[in-house]
Amino acid sequence: MYRDDHPLKPRRLIGVHDTLVRLGAFDHPNAVVLAPRDARIAEIERIHSPEYVLAVQEASVDPEMDYSRWGLSEHGDTPPFLGMHEASLLTTGATIRGMEEVLDGRLRVSFNGAGGLHHAMRSRASGFCIYNDPAIACGLIADRGLKVAYVDIDAHHGDGVQAAFYDTDQVLTISLHETGRSLFPGTGFADERGIGKGAGYSINVALPPYTDDRAYVNAFDAVVPPLVARFKPDVLVTQQGIDSHFTDPLTHLQVSTRAREHVVRAFRGFGLPWVAMGGGGYDLDAVARGWSIEYLVMLDAPIPEGLHDADPPAWTGDERDAVDAATDQAVRDALAAAFS
Ligand SMILES: [Zn+2]
Repeated sequence: MYRDDHPLKPRRLIGVHDTLVRLGAFDHPNAVVLAPRDARIAEIERIHSPEYVLAVQEASVDPEMDYSRWGLSEHGDTPPFLGMHEASLLTTGATIRGMEEVLDGRLRVSFNGAGGLHHAMRSRASGFCIYNDPAIACGLIADRGLKVAYVDIDAHHGDGVQAAFYDTDQVLTISLHETGRSLFPGTGFADERGIGKGAGYSINVALPPYTDDRAYVNAFDAVVPPLVARFKPDVLVTQQGIDSHFTDPLTHLQVSTRAREHVVRAFRGFGLPWVAMGGGGYDLDAVARGWSIEYLVMLDAPIPEGLHDADPPAWTGDERDAVDAATDQAVRDALAAAFS
């Protein structure tokens, strides 16, 4: 596990679990709590190089050595730690376990709040992410001959998933995020649209900092439902990092639980087999309330008003016009880059 002073500390999920227990969510007739399993090496290697997996295994046993060429460094975002390989196999395996239940038709949707580690690259850890469980899930689903729509609503660009499917039209990746001009990883512009058969199948909506609910919902509605409908996927995979929330200490979007509920209801409304996971989210109160709301939407259970933000920010006047103009531009750019 990451140290307790690391932003991706495991403690951040306890609040979600406790909130859902308090609400009786796991007693709901639609709820099933699955035990995770370890991901298999062959599953990890669907996305990652054998050399990288070997390096992570070595770092897991002996984290004091230098693994910086693999993106793992003591003073970087993603420090090596004892047992990191095993912990990452379990995080990834939890996503895969849910995916298998969904693909086999036993569940309509699965959610792994510990997953969504979308920055990990083929041979490099990045941005707190070691094994890229959303990309692994998309790859395993694609290997069954199914078309996958991957939608990433983390505040950061889903760069690792985009890179994994940049040259294929079998996985459509759509990422809505704060522009790389002001936020890590500095990528995710509309002109990153894929290559070869994948041209037009990598969609990026690069939102301006301070995008609020109204602008965010408009952007989502203009891009995601129409492109998903046009693509006609067999399976929906979502990364629901909640660091787009207005109280998040690491980002500058101003999204509230209201906009998030709207977006997750739209996911549900697609009526597709749905593999969902968490992602970033560093304000513990917002994480606990936000993902609890989203889990309740997945269950089709009522949402207690008290879980929502009391007073979400909303721009007026000149700031309203500026935010709307910038998000409209991001939408136009994203749609212009899309497959037709
Ligand atoms: Zn993030």
